[in-house]
Amino acid sequence: MTIQILEGRTALVTGGARGIGAAIVRRLHDLGAGVVITDLLDAEGEALAAALGQRALFVHHDVGDEAAWQAAVAAAVERFGALHVLVNNAGVYQPGAVEDTSVATFEWMVRVNQTGTFLGMKHVLAPMKAAGGGSIVNISSIAGMVGFPGACAYVGTKWAVRGMTKTAAVEFAPHRIRVNSVHPGFIDTPMLAGNSDEANAAGIAATPLKRVGQPDDIAAAVAYLAADGASFITGTELVVDGGYVL
Ligand code: NAD
Repeated sequence: MTIQILEGRTALVTGGARGIGAAIVRRLHDLGAGVVITDLLDAEGEALAAALGQRALFVHHDVGDEAAWQAAVAAAVERFGALHVLVNNAGVYQPGAVEDTSVATFEWMVRVNQTGTFLGMKHVLAPMKAAGGGSIVNISSIAGMVGFPGACAYVGTKWAVRGMTKTAAVEFAPHRIRVNSVHPGFIDTPMLAGNSDEANAAGIAATPLKRVGQPDDIAAAVAYLAADGASFITGTELVVDGGYVL
């Protein structure tokens, strides 16, 4: 029996229908939280919510759309009464050298990864203040710690998430809202299909722990930051990468 360290809390996880987001949803739910799964993938999101049962709700949500954020946050508060945890996990990745990346592709990644994270922090502020505090976890990347040739647009968004996290951590601290970033290394999800097999093999070979990460490796880090055991931690970067950036 898992100790229910998040009992009575509500968590909203963007991009929660599959991959890392789904692992985060399952773990926070297992720890006792009510979970709001948001994503563009309706069938996967509805299926996950149905499998988890009463303490789970799926909401269709495009994180780049401000009105959709207002609706998702309202749905969370209406269903569970309050909102205590936000995980800005939704993300998109398309590799491309600087000279080969179109403005449209660049702006698509900015819209989802960067604007989406900004809007999330903006729109949970009021309900978290009302709840007396909260925890926001922004999913950045090792691409937010170092440079990755061939991924300029994605890297830019993930460094932006890291910088916005530190800024919001200071702005939100008077409200007892903590804001931290998690930086996954190579994790076994559909996102890795954006790379060639050679690029993924090279990434894992350059990982000192010599394995690909699993979504639950990231979920464990997020759960730690979400819960009260991390109550004196804000503005930090938790790198979960098997040692890749060392
Ligand atoms: P994934 O592609 O499996 O999942 C991403 C989810 O985000 C999908 O369910 C997708 O539908 C959703 N999404 C995409 N655009 C959206 C939008 N506009 N609104 C709402 N949801 C949207 O990838 P993943 O690996 O699980 O990625 C999760 C997070 O982890 C991302 O932020 C990603 O950048 C980050 N990350 C992943 C890795 C990795 O190796 N897999 C490494 C570092 C960081």
